[in-house]
Amino acid sequence: MKATSALPAIRYAIVPKSPAAHLFEVTVTVSNPAPEGQRFTLPAWIPGSYMVREFARNIVTIGATCRGRKVALDKLDKHTWQAAPCKGTLIVTYEVYAWDLSVRAAHLDDSHGFFNGTSVFLRVEGQEQAPCEVDVLRPRGAAYKAWRVATALEPAQGTAALDFGRYLAVDYDELIDSPVEMGAFVHGTFKACGVTHEVAITGPVPNLDLDRLLRDMKKICEAQIRLFEPGASSRSRVPMSRYVFLLMTVGEGYGGLEHRASTALLASRNDLPVQGQTNMSDAYRGFLGLVSHEYFHTWNVKRIKPAVFAPYTLDQENYTRLLWLFEGFTSYYDDLMLVRSGVIAPAAYYDLVAKTVANVLRGSGRFKQTVAESSFDAWTKYYRQDENAPNAIVSYYTKGSLVALALDLTIRSRTRGQKSLDDVMRALWQRYGRDFYRGSPVGIDEDAVQPFFEEVSGLDLSEFFATAINGTRDLPLATLLERVGLTLSPVTPENGRPALGAKTAKRGDDLTLTQVLDGGAAQAAGLSAGDALVAIDGLRVTPGNIDKLLERYRPGDRVTVHAFRRDELRETALTLDAPEISQYRIAETKDRAAAQRRAKWLSA
Ligand code: ZN
Repeated sequence: MKATSALPAIRYAIVPKSPAAHLFEVTVTVSNPAPEGQRFTLPAWIPGSYMVREFARNIVTIGATCRGRKVALDKLDKHTWQAAPCKGTLIVTYEVYAWDLSVRAAHLDDSHGFFNGTSVFLRVEGQEQAPCEVDVLRPRGAAYKAWRVATALEPAQGTAALDFGRYLAVDYDELIDSPVEMGAFVHGTFKACGVTHEVAITGPVPNLDLDRLLRDMKKICEAQIRLFEPGASSRSRVPMSRYVFLLMTVGEGYGGLEHRASTALLASRNDLPVQGQTNMSDAYRGFLGLVSHEYFHTWNVKRIKPAVFAPYTLDQENYTRLLWLFEGFTSYYDDLMLVRSGVIAPAAYYDLVAKTVANVLRGSGRFKQTVAESSFDAWTKYYRQDENAPNAIVSYYTKGSLVALALDLTIRSRTRGQKSLDDVMRALWQRYGRDFYRGSPVGIDEDAVQPFFEEVSGLDLSEFFATAINGTRDLPLATLLERVGLTLSPVTPENGRPALGAKTAKRGDDLTLTQVLDGGAAQAAGLSAGDALVAIDGLRVTPGNIDKLLERYRPGDRVTVHAFRRDELRETALTLDAPEISQYRIAETKDRAAAQRRAKWLSA
């Protein structure tokens, strides 16, 4: 539904001015500028990626005209400008350097253009509620004749779907929540519960099996729509009238960013299905997990939001202790929806959960930071990880997804299958999400989360919240999984290879320590991240031979290690650790009652 606004539209125009120089030229036209001098600001971060990125640093040139004459435009801080008072139409024109091939910013060359509004559209202070018009212009030259435009923005009358021309947004918030791809992309569509979903695939993908891709994506989308609106049967149960997947394919890469009616995805072309291939490769499963994750955000974080995101504060960090709910629960459901939609088998789902368990149990940082604290500090810690991260922090994604798993199984067990986390998500949707863009933009307060969950489940969850959300104790996953007939067990490495107590990587010809684990052998021996291992007991160590060499030793053996720190050679005695448990296994038991509970959970 479109809100009507008394304000005249803010008009933007964006043109790929120089693909070779990676420059977009943008103009913003304000017909009613603030009499004391209109201010313009570019966001410092993009919602969904919780790090201050200072997008304004990519504005190369900028100037303003009032009624056609040049006027002063003062820069007030890193991303704010103020024009001289102007009685009449004020136009600001600027160039934006776009050479960040990610889902978070803007990218332009002669193969395609992509931008998020947060990177290119200045906010007209005080007129954020005004409707916006954007002219998306074709770059000049015969080479760009085949280019088209993909975006969730609504084409204005006179602009054909997928064409360059005028697009509309109800306000600034929608404008910057609708990324745009332009180029000669592959375009496919499918209907999910009656609503058109488009997929624009940029970059060469030889022998892509587009039909299979669209078929699998449709299953995932429909399973999610049905999760949130199980009763309704019309297309009104779908939160948007149209949805667009913008997929950029590259050699190596992985990422996604959610928006209210679209998502930007970056993936390796090798992750996508090849014609004639019918098996579910790990890579393709990973890609579908990404699709599932970003699509789930359509409900969870784009409509059900923390109160502090309604509206977002875009010029600085926007703190919330709830990312475990918005990212962690989304991470739980992304894989769960793959098995529920029939895209993967239950055994494959168990493997994904087991991997997440291994991932979380690897770092001792989980004993130092709660998922609520991890959420709050996302800006400076999760998004800015250094070599000490495993010792200092826990991921609100991975631990958050295990919290969701534990909560789901807890509710199912304690209510004897009468309630589940699905009921909580649906209730959140009804209370906060469904009408978020229909005149009721209210988010959930941090203090309201536990009472809300308790009300829906009918359970006292104080112990759960104290330990899982606001505590650091490991979750009782093995016990909970047993209730649905699954065993969780660590996999002991067969070769019995002792561990160094450090993560290593190949750097040139050297084997370099990248992370030294708290309480491990390397730390006790005085080794640090960045040290290059040279020899163990006088034998040359290389990235290629370290595993075989360590297999000749037993845990507790004392070895002499030579390592370079910068250009200084060190010699130290190191007592080898027990083999590292880096894998877990989840398997089905023969308990038939539990199997029924499991079937209900995995097929709900
Ligand atoms: Zn996410």
